[in-house]
Amino acid sequence: MKDLVNKSAKELNKLFLSKEISAKEIVNAFYKQIEIVEPKIQALNSLTKDLAYKQAEELDQKVSRSDKLGPIAGVPIIVKDVLCVKNYHATCSSKILENFIAPYESTATSNLWSAGAICLAKSNMDEFAMGSSTENSAFKKTKNPWNLNTVPGGSSGGSAASVAAMEAPVSLGTDTGGSVRQPASFCGVVGLKPTYGRVSRFGLIAFASSLDQVGPFARDVYDTALILQHMSGYDPKDSTSLNVDVPDYISKLNIGNLKGKKIGLIKELIGDGIESEVRKSVENSIKILKDLGAEIVEISLPNVKYSVPVYYILATAEASSNLARYDGVKYGHRAQGTKEVLPMYTKTRQEGFGAEVKRRIMLGTYALSSGYYEAYYKKAQQVRKLVTQDFLNSFEKVDLMITPTCPTTAFELGSKVEDPLSMYLSDIATIPASLAGLPAISVPCGFDSKNLPIGLQIIAPALSEELLLSAAYEFEKTCNLFNKTNMKVSAVVVG
Ligand code: GLN
Repeated sequence: MKDLVNKSAKELNKLFLSKEISAKEIVNAFYKQIEIVEPKIQALNSLTKDLAYKQAEELDQKVSRSDKLGPIAGVPIIVKDVLCVKNYHATCSSKILENFIAPYESTATSNLWSAGAICLAKSNMDEFAMGSSTENSAFKKTKNPWNLNTVPGGSSGGSAASVAAMEAPVSLGTDTGGSVRQPASFCGVVGLKPTYGRVSRFGLIAFASSLDQVGPFARDVYDTALILQHMSGYDPKDSTSLNVDVPDYISKLNIGNLKGKKIGLIKELIGDGIESEVRKSVENSIKILKDLGAEIVEISLPNVKYSVPVYYILATAEASSNLARYDGVKYGHRAQGTKEVLPMYTKTRQEGFGAEVKRRIMLGTYALSSGYYEAYYKKAQQVRKLVTQDFLNSFEKVDLMITPTCPTTAFELGSKVEDPLSMYLSDIATIPASLAGLPAISVPCGFDSKNLPIGLQIIAPALSEELLLSAAYEFEKTCNLFNKTNMKVSAVVVG
């Protein structure tokens, strides 16, 4: 059984297509693993067993009829609880949606099920995807599988931890300012945020619509490409979805194209505030990239230093508008015991939302209010444009950019809960690419002296996911981190 759960999506698909194992056996093995590790890591909000076994049965029938099946058939996936899977809970780890059952399917998941993937479970997250540690969940605190006293990162902490603990080979998260890349870095897995518009947002419960993107987690770059491939594409149901073809990422992985490529190291994101062990690991990654034939140049993005404040104005402004729909009338929880409608709204929101969500609604409402709109929201939009322009200018000179994914490795549970500002700084290196809508990936690149994983972020021009993935693939092969350190499996799985 252990042999099955540490297999990659690619390997599981191969075993399934060659009829060595059935889809049902795959599902059984992963539910068994979930039973073993879940009490320790608490990564999941609910299991979708009926769906998983139904999908597995259909797949087993198809394989016995020798129907045509593709490269993710039989691959089990865990889905962040912010994405709608029809007829199953979509809680956003919030009390206000605790009993909400999705009446429709998100496009990203629907694309995956059509290609033969299997839905195992919905994962824990920061409430409405607001946070960097998954501690803002109204339900449970997910632990980092590498060290159970530390956070898995956030907001997609459950999805990242579940893949690190082998509850699934791959999972889906969402990234608004870093919520796929940062937990990937903390949990020693790969996480990718696509170009804004590459993957449909239909059925993704909105936090900040101009930034939100669905992204995959996997234990290697190949599987990451596989999942991205099958969930991407134009969707008429999302007006911000890009109507462009999706290249074949897998066939382009092996093109070994780092030779002669120029990679920019963003000066502003490698200096102050970056832990020395993280910096050392990035320096080591630079050596690897140079050995692969890339040229590393230091570049400056002068406006990138405004990214965190700009993000916290724009994301909260959009959130305050998006979350206005939770009023006790249309969705989810409704407060009892009030006679008038206004007190019902108020009480519903008081009871239903946690502290961080309330803080953001207030911040966002303030930034949008008349009199402050010009000074905050409008100004932030203008600076967002400058950050985007900085990237465009630098991409005239370099092919890719690198930064550490996070300034630190996973921090201790509870250590930043009382200090939202220091929590917000966790995304200092991931937010810039979000503001500019660019694709970016976090790949494991080392461990600190406490054996906690470190991630390298690679950023590419818009819609250049194939370049991003092939660079990350080559880096991963040469870095060979898990084989060298013999630390493929995280603490929980070994222990
Ligand atoms: N940590 C950031 C925040 O709290 C990013 C969250 C996200 O990407 N969903 O907003």
